[in-house]
Amino acid sequence: MPDLKIRKFPEAILRRKAARVEKVTISERSMLTDMASAMYLSQGVGLAAVQVGIDKQLAVIDVGEGLIKLVNPVILKREGLETQEEGCLSCPGLYVKIKRARKVLVSYIDEKGDITEINASGLLARAVQHELDHLSGKLIIDYLGPVKKILAKKKISKSAGYCGVKL
Ligand code: ZN
Repeated sequence: MPDLKIRKFPEAILRRKAARVEKVTISERSMLTDMASAMYLSQGVGLAAVQVGIDKQLAVIDVGEGLIKLVNPVILKREGLETQEEGCLSCPGLYVKIKRARKVLVSYIDEKGDITEINASGLLARAVQHELDHLSGKLIIDYLGPVKKILAKKKISKSAGYCGVKL
């Protein structure tokens, strides 16, 4: 198993727009499996490939409804809005209230290479939107205003506590 160390803010890889996967091969499948292990080990409910230093559009999510492995995910439809506090494995100690769609229709390629769609709501919808942010280089800290952002940067570097949902 490769070294799947969780990359933390402000590492540059977290700001990269992840490359699309051209073809799902054994290499992508094993990356997804390793990413799932890293996610469970860190007690997260979601993990994007860039968070373990892999520049590819891959993500894993398990909000307690089973493991989902996503390749090249795209949101086709958004419905409603909901504000909830969110944490991130790459921004330890930081929790940000973020307004996101309550429901999303997501299209992605599964690990067999088939195009799949899911109708996600609740925490799953939030996790999908959070991981999609990662794949475009966006972090929860970006949802803060300039002053809060400065305070948050100090907090991330110091804290490693866990008190909420980490994605
Ligand atoms: Zn995250």
